[in-house]
Amino acid sequence: MHTSIQIAKIWGIPVRLHWTFVLVLGWLVYLGIPDWQYFRGQRALWMFVSVFAVFVCILLHELGHAFMARRYGVQTLQIMLSPIGGQAILERMPKQPRKELLVALAGPIVNMILAITALPFLFWIPAEKLAHLPQFFGNPNGNTFLRLDLDERFIIGFVLLNFLVALFNLIPAFPLDGGRILRALLSMRMNKLGATRIATFLGQGFAALIVLFSVSQYNWLMGVIGLFIFVSASMEYRYVKLDSRLHSFSVKDILRPRFTRIYLDEDLQQVIQQWREGSEKNFLVFNRFEQLQGVLTSPILMEHQQSEEKELVEVLLTQEYVEIGKEDNLMKVIRLMQDEDYEILPVYEGKELIGVVDWNDVEHFIRLQKEQIR
Ligand SMILES: [Zn+2]
Repeated sequence: MHTSIQIAKIWGIPVRLHWTFVLVLGWLVYLGIPDWQYFRGQRALWMFVSVFAVFVCILLHELGHAFMARRYGVQTLQIMLSPIGGQAILERMPKQPRKELLVALAGPIVNMILAITALPFLFWIPAEKLAHLPQFFGNPNGNTFLRLDLDERFIIGFVLLNFLVALFNLIPAFPLDGGRILRALLSMRMNKLGATRIATFLGQGFAALIVLFSVSQYNWLMGVIGLFIFVSASMEYRYVKLDSRLHSFSVKDILRPRFTRIYLDEDLQQVIQQWREGSEKNFLVFNRFEQLQGVLTSPILMEHQQSEEKELVEVLLTQEYVEIGKEDNLMKVIRLMQDEDYEILPVYEGKELIGVVDWNDVEHFIRLQKEQIR
């Protein structure tokens, strides 16, 4: 799905722009149509600078999360920038609450630093103009703001934007950073699922309030943000619930005791035949002394299914497997299989091979568990 384009790569992290940014450009053009004169010269320049600054502030916020995550050895898969904010997608959240807390805090802290750094520039603005600012908050549609010069508006806007982004993100509601901070704090005293439930509940309540408010104000953008928060909060809860559910299983709950043994000197075409017709898609390969020599996986067989050459199993087998025990935690094994791209793993009880864990079985198992928690 190409719903976004990559615009940069920072520290090896792809930075992507969501297509809805086109809507924002369209909106700006629409605003400009009644009075094109308005957008000429200085004004157009400052407008461009402002939009760019918003963009950079959001990007720096996300890089703050990514930077802190990297300190704890967690990779950021990508940073997505959309008109309603950015999102740093981490490969996983650090397990320890203290680390999750710091990763979540890093984003708002970046905006705080930006705002504080820009504060001295306020002295640029004549004091008598600044004195009028409180009136602006009382009546944003009044002309107090308009009496400021363009560069003065930019400085005030920059400071306000960063303070507001930091404060908004600190609201303790999923999926905002504040929700993660709250969950991390609660996780120090209770289990993660309970902590997530509370943070989710607050997130949904908060989202509902935003939606109600936006309806009363006819503010559709706010409504979209509210719905987005609501859906994300629910998804996060389901994800954590699935995660904690999978943690309660071990390898023996999923292992397959019966499996077809393939031998080094077997004809590959025969194995491919078996792969096509049977339900087993990944195999363990043995020598004639019944010693495990490697694995033959579905991707490899798929690649060679067209070849007419007469080959033996031993030319294709790989060493991409590790031995696991039947008491190993299932979630750990699933992570391992995902990280290392393992398709099938032999399961041992002591020295005895008692079965296999096949990725196809894992996927099926996860699907079943997902249905259970719906
Ligand atoms: Zn954030």
